[in-house]
Amino acid sequence: MSEHDEYGFDTRAVRAGQQRSNFNENSEALYLTSSFVHESAAVAAKRFSGELDGNVYSRFTNPTVSMFQDRLAALEGMESCVATSSGMSAVLTAAMALLRAGDHVICSHSVFGSVITLFDKNLRKFGVDTTFVSATDPSAWAAAVKPNTRMLFVETPSNPTMEVSDMAALKQVATNAGALFVVDNCFCTPAIQRPVEFGADLVIHSATKFLDGHGRIVGGAVVGSKQLVMGEVYGFLRTAGPSMSPFNAWVALKGMETLSIRMEAQSKRALQLARWLEAHPAIERVLYPGLESHPQFELAKRQQSASGEFLAGAVVSFVVKGGREEAWRVVDATKMISITANVGDTKSTITHPASTTHGRISKEAREAAGIGEGLLRVSVGLENAADVQADLARGLAA
Ligand SMILES: *Cc1c(COP(=O)(O)O)cnc(C)c1O
Repeated sequence: MSEHDEYGFDTRAVRAGQQRSNFNENSEALYLTSSFVHESAAVAAKRFSGELDGNVYSRFTNPTVSMFQDRLAALEGMESCVATSSGMSAVLTAAMALLRAGDHVICSHSVFGSVITLFDKNLRKFGVDTTFVSATDPSAWAAAVKPNTRMLFVETPSNPTMEVSDMAALKQVATNAGALFVVDNCFCTPAIQRPVEFGADLVIHSATKFLDGHGRIVGGAVVGSKQLVMGEVYGFLRTAGPSMSPFNAWVALKGMETLSIRMEAQSKRALQLARWLEAHPAIERVLYPGLESHPQFELAKRQQSASGEFLAGAVVSFVVKGGREEAWRVVDATKMISITANVGDTKSTITHPASTTHGRISKEAREAAGIGEGLLRVSVGLENAADVQADLARGLAA
């Protein structure tokens, strides 16, 4: 654990992991170099063998990337972090490092669409079998356990249906099965929820989302104990190279400095929008864990109060009465909100998951995940709440 553990979350977000060069810069330096120079052949040999610490090659050691990794580990309250080129490569890296042919995975139905494809198609090709179950029914997870179950993978709240999974209950299932418990903490970030407190062995991030927070980069991370992360996970990254670029690490490092104030401000705007949508006659249902009507409201409150205050996050999904035509009309009537699938930006975004992020998975898998044709997902940014509301009101009134 770092020297920064004695500090509060916001202090760690600004300062943890910083390594100053001999120029004593105040802001973190960006090291754009592919390799590092050694004093001698003998020193080079020792650095390559790991006998001597130090930077070797930016596929697996770069000071800017190290600062990002140390900062994110400090925020999650976990020992170690390996940064990756994207959130998806973080999932891939964890799977390649910790699974082998013949292993079985249990994964929630309601996860990011590419995660379903990765487990169901790509990893199945290599003999890893995945069973998909309901995010909200721990007994379904327990029933899916097989003698070779090696990993439980959940995303909470889930994208895009905002289902909240009981992490402590799933950890119990994982422990009983002798399996690893992996949590994708993309939607909350450690500013709102720290999965380690509920037993997560590994936390997955897409730095693309709220960690950067301004929609500028694609990146990811695997966070966990030193033993898990610096062993096989780091080893896979070093060998295979799904690495984060120093530039992207630098951008995300600066993004993290404002993480908690953004998560708070965006969550508050999102709650306001969710309440307004819930009262709107053209809306069938609003899926937002901050609403009392959410089926896992109490659970969300327990899990998403890391800041000392219950924050439900910036993503609000809702079902428009009718179907695809009515939903697309809302999207097309916007003048300000960005029509794009990304989330976690300061700019509010809107997407129709059934035809975009979850368009490549089968209709059955979509239905199992509760992604209907009327569903829309909004990631609430930092614009005035009234302007976001007015932009959605137009298509809903039509
Ligand atoms: C975006 C996202 C991912 C994948 O991250 P990329 O950076 O796009 O590869 C994984 N999980 C969740 C919840 C996401 O929103």
